[in-house]
Amino acid sequence: MAKILIIGGGWAGCSAAIAAKKTGADVLLTERTDLLLGLGNVGGIMRNNGRFTAAEECIAMGAGELFAITDACSTHRNKDFPGHGHASFYDPEKVEPAVRGLLADMGVETKLTTRITDIRKTEKRIESVTSAEGENFDADVFVDCTGTTGPMGNCMEFGNGCSMCVLRCPSFGPRVSISAKAGGSDYYGLRDDGTPGAFSGSCKLDKGSLSRELQRQLDEEGVAIVPLPEHLVNKSKLTKKVCRQYALRQFAENIILIDTGHAKMMTPFFPLEELRQVPGFEKARYLDPYAGGKGNSIRYMAVTERDETLRVRGVENLFCGGEKAGPFIGHTEAIVTGSLAGFNAGCMAGGEELLALHPEETAIGAFLHYEKPGGGMFTFAGDAFFDHMKAVGLYTTDKKQIERRIADAGLTGRYNAFL
Ligand SMILES: Cc1cc2nc3c(=O)[nH]c(=O)nc-3n(C[C@H](O)[C@H](O)[C@H](O)COP(=O)(O)OP(=O)(O)OC[C@H]3O[C@@H](n4cnc5c(N)ncnc54)[C@H](O)[C@@H]3O)c2cc1C
Repeated sequence: MAKILIIGGGWAGCSAAIAAKKTGADVLLTERTDLLLGLGNVGGIMRNNGRFTAAEECIAMGAGELFAITDACSTHRNKDFPGHGHASFYDPEKVEPAVRGLLADMGVETKLTTRITDIRKTEKRIESVTSAEGENFDADVFVDCTGTTGPMGNCMEFGNGCSMCVLRCPSFGPRVSISAKAGGSDYYGLRDDGTPGAFSGSCKLDKGSLSRELQRQLDEEGVAIVPLPEHLVNKSKLTKKVCRQYALRQFAENIILIDTGHAKMMTPFFPLEELRQVPGFEKARYLDPYAGGKGNSIRYMAVTERDETLRVRGVENLFCGGEKAGPFIGHTEAIVTGSLAGFNAGCMAGGEELLALHPEETAIGAFLHYEKPGGGMFTFAGDAFFDHMKAVGLYTTDKKQIERRIADAGLTGRYNAFL
């Protein structure tokens, strides 16, 4: 049986593993930490703006398993907040074990605390990889889903130091880019001022550390918007963060909280002493990153060049998904690109033709071919690419219309073609 090795167990890696498994291959997923989901262990916003369309396209193509989990583990559904419509918020503490269980049920072998640090290759093909502990893994096809965040040196050089985020580099060792090791060309995503990378755009506060009134609002309404006193408004933070979809005036003038089980605060960092001056936040504590009073993780440090099938340029048997595959922001973005990467890895292993999604047929295809004017990161959820979706008629929340679009492109159930 063909063997596929997925490196990195964030949303992209989990999604790639599922798609690859459904092509009939033997699949191993290696992850350097003790948790799946990577950055998906924080955050939780799904289905906002164009993410709804992208999720439904992916479901119609046959890769609905992970969206079924995030929908089922949502604390709130169909919520609006500034600049965003029909969002749902998942609870990461429920989602991670559910994804782990799904992979096990599907027969995907998962090796946690296994950090790939080296590869053995011929001129253009990877033969095998080695973990930091010296274990060797060979495969026919490989998928790099190692993300673009950190490690500590990058957070120190381009951020405010290690923010102690969920990736926990000091404990589990630094991220290693497999594409770079294999001879691919990695590049930085850039901030508006040309600085490499950008700060992650939100933090997680312990909901129990907030006032009873804020807790009630979050539990009942899912969103709380708290105006900031004038002296605490800092608009310069808007230009530093990854999430261009939240670079709106309302996010600088207010604290916007989202209920994901805990309280997701929509700002990259906020000095604790200042935060505690805001009514309701007098006893606030950070859960992620632990040093959210000082900084946040730095992302987009290792995006790689790839073709439209998500094959890494210059390496015959390596695909990529998630942030690795482009300056893509988001869980949905990682899931939809991971699915295509894993599926194509399976197609290559089985000697089948690779799948490319055309930009005029689907929102996902348009996304994979998009380059933001002036460069920079983008997402289905707002800013330039969402405007593009609306301009070319690709944004809709009509599920029937999305199913028709996928059928017209001959893509209905494509990810299940080999079951
Ligand atoms: C604080 C924060 C809040 C966010 N909020 C949201 C939100 O609400 N909604 C949304 O849609 N998006 C959100 N995002 C963005 C979203 O989480 C990411 O864009 C997406 O999850 C990236 O997925 P990925 O799989 O590409 O990368 P990652 O999640 O970075 O996963 C990469 C994985 O690879 C592992 N790895 C790296 N190197 C190796 C190696 N050599 N060997 C083995 N394993 C390795 C890492 O440990 C990691 O688990 C948020 C991000 C952050 C940081």
